[in-house]
Amino acid sequence: MSDSNLLEKIVALCKRRGFIYPGSEIYGGLANTYDYGPMGAELLRNIRNLWWDYFVHKREDIVGLDASLISAAKIWEASGHTAGFADAMVDCKNCQARFRADHIISDFFLNFYRLSSKSKDASELISDMVGNNPLIIIPSDDKKGIETKLEGLPIEQLTKLISKEKILCPNCGKSDWTEVRKFNLLFPVNLGIVEGDQSLAYLRGETAQGIFINFKNIVDSTRVRLPFGVAQLGKSFRNEITLGNSIFRTIEFEQGEIEYFFDPEKEDWQKLFEDFKKGMWNFVVSSLGVKDSNLRWREHSDQERSFYSKKTLDLEYNFPFGYKELWGLAYRTDYDLSQHQKFSGKDLTILDPETNKKILPHVIEPAVGINRLMLMVLTDAYSEEGERIFLKLNPKIAPYKAAVFPLLANKEELVNLARKIYEDLRKEFLIAWDDRGNIGKRYASQDEIGTPYCITVDFDTLKDDSVTIRDRNSAKQERVKIPDLTNYLQEHLK
Ligand SMILES: [Zn+2]
Repeated sequence: MSDSNLLEKIVALCKRRGFIYPGSEIYGGLANTYDYGPMGAELLRNIRNLWWDYFVHKREDIVGLDASLISAAKIWEASGHTAGFADAMVDCKNCQARFRADHIISDFFLNFYRLSSKSKDASELISDMVGNNPLIIIPSDDKKGIETKLEGLPIEQLTKLISKEKILCPNCGKSDWTEVRKFNLLFPVNLGIVEGDQSLAYLRGETAQGIFINFKNIVDSTRVRLPFGVAQLGKSFRNEITLGNSIFRTIEFEQGEIEYFFDPEKEDWQKLFEDFKKGMWNFVVSSLGVKDSNLRWREHSDQERSFYSKKTLDLEYNFPFGYKELWGLAYRTDYDLSQHQKFSGKDLTILDPETNKKILPHVIEPAVGINRLMLMVLTDAYSEEGERIFLKLNPKIAPYKAAVFPLLANKEELVNLARKIYEDLRKEFLIAWDDRGNIGKRYASQDEIGTPYCITVDFDTLKDDSVTIRDRNSAKQERVKIPDLTNYLQEHLK
């Protein structure tokens, strides 16, 4: 099975079994939006709950937050998200990394200068490259490099320069660029009902900023002490170009972010970083049940990393379209809090109760896309055996834990007994009921939504008080006494 084929198969299964539908479909669809159907809603909810349980409820040093989706424009100026209005940006079509156009051009000239200065007359070569444009200044003392004067250059000229010099993407090494453009990454919201009297706000571009702007509130209103983390789950919005890899990158997406605040003089950031690294890996492998052979870490290069970050790692998953970022882990220093201090004019430092010193904490940020986790578990679980298609979902995240069938829908004794078993088990687990079609069809539909166990009430049940339990992964069947069913499921769903 080729990999591009695999994504198509998963997308088709998701549509036919109620995981994922294209957004606004009856009106012709709306690009890059998706609706989650009954199975998708359950799967997403299970992933979310596990994440919250693992990183918030199971830890005494992390608390939760649920901040507003609509937020003041100033927040996004401080965070740098609205910089796209002002800066000319260019996107790599191959890897979707986005760069400031002037940065990649000046880096290119700088590297070129460094290489060429060893053998040839660099200044001649470079003035050759840029024609008569006095874009590049070569200082007389040279050695250290060159200065560029690219800022404020018309965007058409930047586009031309990038294509003329065949500048390579610092992230993936290809040279396949969009045109250079200025754009608004965030969705503006006009508040107020009277036109002309409206004020501009934004749908949040990430959940992290809600945490930073509430940092002081949380410290003042709860008993937290450094080091501590604040976790948030929720939707964010970015007006991005996407590549159509299903729900991998969408303009509306759900994030799970933690900002872990600490005093850099008291804590070893590398140890905190390592702890989160272990936690993230463990969550994906143990809680979500994903094969660790499909995971890898990738460290950001100096060029790729934000200037304020000391270290950034991506946990990547082997999607049908290649290894892609699943979960980022970054040491962001005190950059965000100091930006908000600057833009808001508010003191965001806290007092160390021991030393009475003012501290602006540093943060480590693990940030994951919940929808990406969902695409990952679907990819990892997708299995074919001959004609049979089934999702080998970890029982913890499977939408239904079991399904109950009467062998025949028109035999009252079978239906009544099956109905009683169904009602009993429902007190404890989410259970599916199906009496349509034949047993084979019911198995097939439960297999495709990843239900771990199917329980059939047949004529023998009326005699021996036992049912047939069929295992999704092995398709093997065994007989279990009705009073033992709850225990059986509890034991097998662990
Ligand atoms: Zn690239």
